[in-house]
Amino acid sequence: MNPIPYGRQSISQEDIDAVVETLRSDFLTQGPAVAAFEKAFSDYIGAKYAVAVSNGTTALHLCALALNVRPGDKVITTPITFVASANCIRYCGGDVVFSDIDPATFLLDVGKVRQLLEKHPKGTFKGIIPVDFSGASVDLEVFRKLADEYGMWIIEDACHAPGGYFTDSRSKKQNCGNGNYAELAIFSFHPVKHIATGEGGMITTNDKALYDKLCLLRTHGISKDPSRLKENHGGWYHEMQELGYNYRLSDIQAALGVSQMKRAWEGLKKRREIAAKYDNAFGKSGLDIITPARTDGHAYHLYVIQVNDRKGLYEHLRKNNIFSQVHYIPAHTMPYYRFLGYKKGDFPASESYYQGCLSLPMYPTLSQKEQDYVIHKILEFFENRTYARNITKVIF
Ligand SMILES: *Cc1c(COP(=O)(O)O)cnc(C)c1O
Repeated sequence: MNPIPYGRQSISQEDIDAVVETLRSDFLTQGPAVAAFEKAFSDYIGAKYAVAVSNGTTALHLCALALNVRPGDKVITTPITFVASANCIRYCGGDVVFSDIDPATFLLDVGKVRQLLEKHPKGTFKGIIPVDFSGASVDLEVFRKLADEYGMWIIEDACHAPGGYFTDSRSKKQNCGNGNYAELAIFSFHPVKHIATGEGGMITTNDKALYDKLCLLRTHGISKDPSRLKENHGGWYHEMQELGYNYRLSDIQAALGVSQMKRAWEGLKKRREIAAKYDNAFGKSGLDIITPARTDGHAYHLYVIQVNDRKGLYEHLRKNNIFSQVHYIPAHTMPYYRFLGYKKGDFPASESYYQGCLSLPMYPTLSQKEQDYVIHKILEFFENRTYARNITKVIF
C-alpha cells in the first residue's frame, strides 16, 4: 500500500494541459486566467465579487487592511484554527482575542462570544473572524445579529468549506462565503484544500467598495483606472494611492484553478461519500471513537474523530503507512501567543478537543480500497486494545 496522507490534491491531464497552454500565452502573472478563475469561483460560491490573491494568508491580511484594522484594535477568533486566521490581525498591529469553541461542533461558540461582548463597553471589539472549521459552516446569521448589535464586522474564514452551506432561519441554504452575512470571506488553494493552485487564495464579498479596495491593495495600491486618478499625464500614467502589496496570483496558477473548478462539485460529493462511509464504520461500532457531528452542508475538508489514546492510534496508523494529522494545536497555546499573555487553561473546550482529535485521510482520490484499509487498521487498533484490556483483567 502506498503512503496515505490525510489530504492531497488531484491533478488531471486536463489541469496539466491548461497550465501548459498558459505558459505559451502572453500572460504569466495576473491576466485573463485570473479573471476567469474569479468568475468561476464567485459563481460557485454565489458571491458577487471575488479577488484572487497569492494565498489564504495574504487574503486574510488584505481583509484586515480593507477593514482598517489598526494597532490596538481587538478582534475575536477561535483557537481551533490554522494560526493565520489570528495572525492577520497581528500584521496590522491589532490584538487577537480568542474565545472558546462549542465542544459539540468545534466551531467558535456564539454564546461565549456574547458573554465576552457583554462584559465590555460597546465598541471594545472591532470584528469577529469565525472559521468554518473542518468544512462545517458556522451559523453566520446568528453571528451577524450579534455583530450588528455591537457594531462589528465579520471576516468568514471559509478555507475549509468551498461548497459548504448552513441553513438559515427561513430554511434557505446559505453557501459559505456567499457574502450575505459576512463583509468578507476568504479561501485557500493550498494543495490539501478542496481546490489546488499550488499556492493561492480568494476573497469573496458582495460589497463593491471593499472589492475595489482589495483590488487596489493586492497590487501595491496602484491604480491605472482613469476614473480613479487624481491627475492624468497620458497612457503610461498611474498612481499609488494607498500602501498596498504584491499579493497577486499568477495566470499559471489561475489556469490550474479554472480547470480544478470544473471538478469542484464532484470532489465535494466524493468527500461526503467518504465521510458517510467513515460514519458508518465507526458510528455503530461501540468503539471509543467520537465521529464528527453530522451537519447538512458539511464540506468535509477534514474528517476529525476524537479518541482517548490519540497518540497510540496516530503511531499505529503511521506504522501502517497512514499519515493522519492533528488539526489544530490550539492557537493560544503557541509560544508566540503565550508571549502575548495567553496560557494553557484559558479555553478548556479547545484544549480538551485537542487532547483527542485526529484527522483521517479525506480527499476525493482516496480509493475505496484505501479507505477500507484505513478503516481496517483503525478497527484493528481498537480490537487489540480491547483484547489487551481483557487479558489484563484475566491476569490481575
Ligand atoms: C489553509 C488555511 C489558511 C491559510 O491558507 P494558506 O493558503 O496556506 O496561506 C487560513 N485559514 C485556514 C482555516 C486554513 O485552513
